[in-house]
Amino acid sequence: MRPILIVGSIAFDTLHLGGKCHSKVLGGSATYASIAAAHFSPVQLVGVVGQDFPDSATKLLRDRSVDLAGLEIAHGETFHWEGRYSEDLSSRETLRTDLNVFADFKPKIPKAFRAAPYVMLGNIDPVLQIEVLEQIEKPAFVLADTMNLWIDIRHAELQKLCGRIDMLVLNDEEARQLTDQKNLVLAAKALRALGPKQVCIKKGEHGALLFQGDEVFALPALPLSKVVDPTGAGDTFAGGLIGYLARSGDLSSPNLRRALVHGSALASFCVEGVGTERLTSASPSDVHARLETFRQLTSF
Ligand code: AMP
Repeated sequence: MRPILIVGSIAFDTLHLGGKCHSKVLGGSATYASIAAAHFSPVQLVGVVGQDFPDSATKLLRDRSVDLAGLEIAHGETFHWEGRYSEDLSSRETLRTDLNVFADFKPKIPKAFRAAPYVMLGNIDPVLQIEVLEQIEKPAFVLADTMNLWIDIRHAELQKLCGRIDMLVLNDEEARQLTDQKNLVLAAKALRALGPKQVCIKKGEHGALLFQGDEVFALPALPLSKVVDPTGAGDTFAGGLIGYLARSGDLSSPNLRRALVHGSALASFCVEGVGTERLTSASPSDVHARLETFRQLTSF
């Protein structure tokens, strides 16, 4: 068993979806990524929550082989994010971000987690992502995710982080913003020049591109008839991807392609329910069936 260390946000989200408001929904980058990765390999989670974080949420994570020895329970309230989606769910606006205990988050990696061979640096300040790397031993594979906020306010630190990771995962808009390149092929080239061996560019409902060596791999997203809530799909994709890599222990380029398919399969469950509900209810045979659907979708 190769454990995956996952560091990121743990949140309560308020989600406005199709005229309905869902409050106190368990969310955060590390939550989605951990639940996704734990479908394939054990997870060691590092994050912070407040005293309001309920036992039901810790139980949900523990029941899925997520080790919570690195979960800090701080004085105050859990990070809260509120967003409203457009009618067609293709865009969203942030209505509110209450950092609460997340404002003072300083990831402390427990001794027992420092030798984790697979590491996912979920969406947090790149300064903290670098601090995590400074506390751990030499992992086999490090994946980092980011968002437009950090590209705006931590550009230099993000570039420094790129020199220390294996794979950078970001969406198309962020890739363009970080590199000042409109063309995604050139943007990926510029990002790889900063250090990562692989750059994975997510394109939402249009799938993802993986750039490694001289190769490009293009994977569509599964066309779904039921999309309920896109929150966390990107984190789920990255968590599923690294989870599969950890389970197989194979970092070859064909296996990285397979890892993208596994990440996309889990992301397709994520969007079918509010918050993590469908992601948590998906069984191994559901996941297997979806991988088969992907096979049919992409064979000709
Ligand atoms: P995604 O839909 O993949 O962008 O991720 C959504 C999750 O990101 C939500 O569950 C939020 O709680 C979390 N989130 C929103 N803003 C931030 C932030 N500034 N830092 C860390 N996590 C955030």
